[in-house]
Amino acid sequence: MAFLTHFPVAPIHHHSSSLFTRFFLSPKPKTLLIFATLSPSHFSSTSTIIPSSSSSSSLETFQEISLPEETPIQIAQEKLFIPPDTEISSEKPPRILRGSNIVLSKYARDAQIVSAEFVKSSVETDACPSDGSPEFALVGRSNVGKSSLLNSIVKRKKLALTSKKPGKTQCINHFRINDSWYLVDLPGYGYASAPHELKQDWNKFTKDYFLNRSTLVSVFLLIDASIPAKKIDLEYASWLGQNQVPMTIVFTKCDKRKKKKNGGKHPEENVQDFQDLISKYFDSVPPWIMTSSLTNQGRDEILLHMSQLRNYWLNH
Ligand code: GDP
Repeated sequence: MAFLTHFPVAPIHHHSSSLFTRFFLSPKPKTLLIFATLSPSHFSSTSTIIPSSSSSSSLETFQEISLPEETPIQIAQEKLFIPPDTEISSEKPPRILRGSNIVLSKYARDAQIVSAEFVKSSVETDACPSDGSPEFALVGRSNVGKSSLLNSIVKRKKLALTSKKPGKTQCINHFRINDSWYLVDLPGYGYASAPHELKQDWNKFTKDYFLNRSTLVSVFLLIDASIPAKKIDLEYASWLGQNQVPMTIVFTKCDKRKKKKNGGKHPEENVQDFQDLISKYFDSVPPWIMTSSLTNQGRDEILLHMSQLRNYWLNH
């Protein structure tokens, strides 16, 4: 089996400082089978990283923990999200974030949330905060669990309710985290009872933000893993892929395991199906992560992923 020791980085085009462009324009890597584990409730790698309670910014603040015995599965290297400057080899196996395909890089640090405050609601991209801090935008179909996830991430109940107030649901809502970066709540799409014209407006509005917001590090596209893929979600993902907008897929409601209620499939199967359906729009698989706001599954992992994207972005 051939092992890659260096992951090639391609020239940069559209989003010049994004991980996404570097990753997705890279030539397809050779296959490297990574041994990982699959449990009924979550994927996890043989080597899982958790943040320590310390808020120190050094990489040494992450400890490796051993996991209980689980059924081994194999993940091919081309199914992993490997951040730039991250080497994988048989001597240096990847550290994969639990419940995801995301390899941890040296840029992961400062993952704890110390402060979170609502800053402003904007009605156009140009009106968004202009201090140049990096940001992550959460978007998804109405009812996907966006407000719940936002609250789970910042560990504050009802913070995201600001964006659910009348008049704010169609806005770009900025939350400042640790006084250094932003979480952005974008209007939900596909709201069943919204008039067609309003839906069109939301599309135009958010698309302009995706294409023109220079401090956008990555869109976090939320997909409900408890139900089979919806056409509108596939359209959204393919639009982001085709426009080379940096994207991480966040699968929500991964605690919902009743097969009958959920269209006959477990979250893991819906996660796999969704990836298969969108793979043709991407040169390589985008980063994805499984979450639940009920159990806080994926919360620490999302924060680590955001920290590595952010720190890479700040350094380039
Ligand atoms: P939003 O419209 O995308 O902001 O969605 P909400 O956060 O308001 O959630 C919509 C519904 O899904 C609510 O009834 C939540 O209780 C439920 N929900 C949200 N996240 C989860 C989750 O992780 N697990 C489960 N089981 N239900 C969830």
